[in-house]
Amino acid sequence: MNTLAGMGEFTREDGNDALWYQVFQEGHPVLLGKQKRFSLLPGGSRCKMCYAPLAGIGGWITRRMGLEPSSRNPFFCNACDGFLKAYPGGAEVDLSILFCDLRGSVSLSASMSPREFKQLITFMRETIIPVLWQAEGFVLQFQGDAVIGVWPPGFSGKDYASKAVNGGMKLPRAIERTPFNGSALPVGTAIHTGRAYLSTVASLNGDMQEVSAFGFDVNVAARLASSAKAGEVLISEAALKAAGRTIDDDAMCSYELKGIDENIRATPLKLH
Ligand SMILES: [Zn+2]
Repeated sequence: MNTLAGMGEFTREDGNDALWYQVFQEGHPVLLGKQKRFSLLPGGSRCKMCYAPLAGIGGWITRRMGLEPSSRNPFFCNACDGFLKAYPGGAEVDLSILFCDLRGSVSLSASMSPREFKQLITFMRETIIPVLWQAEGFVLQFQGDAVIGVWPPGFSGKDYASKAVNGGMKLPRAIERTPFNGSALPVGTAIHTGRAYLSTVASLNGDMQEVSAFGFDVNVAARLASSAKAGEVLISEAALKAAGRTIDDDAMCSYELKGIDENIRATPLKLH
């Protein structure tokens, strides 16, 4: 099991290792410069790679610079999407990973119409993604009823691990503040830190590229998230250590995860 569960119709791409290592591990000066400039402009909807605002006043400014939402991939600007297309591939890097998925999604989907369920998933993404952006995480391609963010140092800075933990700790409040049909979204979240192969993935018909993560630590994060109860954020011991936090043994729980030999220790944060 070395691919992200539920990858669906995307296949992993290899190549351009040095370039992607620079982007995600060391930091690419051109991309970091763009992120710095674009984050000064107002805008809610942004390119998830360079942060160029794609709507509103900020979007008006970036349109004059020749940037617009990519027609094939609206979460990237046309320049970044062109970059993914021109340089398919990836590299193995350090990173923190946040997995957030819906608890009881099968019974939830049985209790509403397919259209309402889709609205619930959209609402969940719209609630969680801004929190990840504010914490300087990179949102991976959407997978069913999960939202996945990664914090590689080249993208999120040297203190990537504490940014991931801080971002995850803000999720319960964001979820509580924005109820869906009167109740808090039943999502379980996990944060873990380790290594992964971050790479472009291409849709099978080849007309769209995205970025995804592969490897053991990605699976640990995914499995840990499925152990989280609704409203719970589980922060693995590795994530806490990498963030420079002291480990409180009394607050640690041990989780037996399917397909993973060693139990994983994590601290649960509760919504209520
Ligand atoms: Zn961009």
